Amino acid sequence: MPKLIVANYKMNGSKKLYATIIKKINKLKVMDTKIVLCPPFVYLDEFRLKNRFVSLGCQDITNEDNSKSTGQISPKMLLEFQVEYVIVGHSERRKLGEKDEQINEKVKICLNNGLQPIICVGEEKKSDKLDSVLFQVEQAIKNTPKNIIPIIAYEPVWAIGTGKLPEVSRINRMSKKIRTKITDLGYQNCILLYGGSINSNNFKEIMLSQIDGLLLGGVSLRIDEFIKIVKGIDDD
Ligand code: PEP
Repeated sequence: MPKLIVANYKMNGSKKLYATIIKKINKLKVMDTKIVLCPPFVYLDEFRLKNRFVSLGCQDITNEDNSKSTGQISPKMLLEFQVEYVIVGHSERRKLGEKDEQINEKVKICLNNGLQPIICVGEEKKSDKLDSVLFQVEQAIKNTPKNIIPIIAYEPVWAIGTGKLPEVSRINRMSKKIRTKITDLGYQNCILLYGGSINSNNFKEIMLSQIDGLLLGGVSLRIDEFIKIVKGIDDD
């Protein structure tokens, strides 16, 4: 299975920066890596991607099935811009009050419309019990068809944007727990990503853990460093 690398640009960037990023990404040659770029909604139309290894994603979606939702973005709108993936339940949205129930609604809206949710889960503090993460996983995929292969991004909140990394052994323990949970719930498999403070100096160590790819935040804006990571993973 190709490794999956997701870039979450968060509330960053500009038309100028994305023009540079897209130019370099369209020229990027990889063999066995899938890349997903998730810009802010207002820049989706800038992302005319001409690289079969690269797909478009976004950072959120509505949880409501009605048009009277000021400020929300529907699946139909995203599909018009060739969006294929949606980050759901990022901790920065959970911090704004998003609850497991809404995350589950978003996951179902994605799946009902042919969009692939990338479900973010993770413990708040390093001292928290890892099992709290399993609850987030279970709630997010509740009542979804068992033939899907969920994409789960394990992102310890304390590692996001802090420069702090979990040990490989911790990621492996979490990976095992999540994969077991997924099969216990009746799904065949999942694609498991790690996210939080990855850069070009530490990605190799983290890729030694039992994960299927990475979710990258800050480093994805530094396009040359991002490409270095992609190539480093692709070459392995
Ligand atoms: C993220 O916010 O999903 C993330 C992984 O951020 P960073 O890489 O900047 O820690």
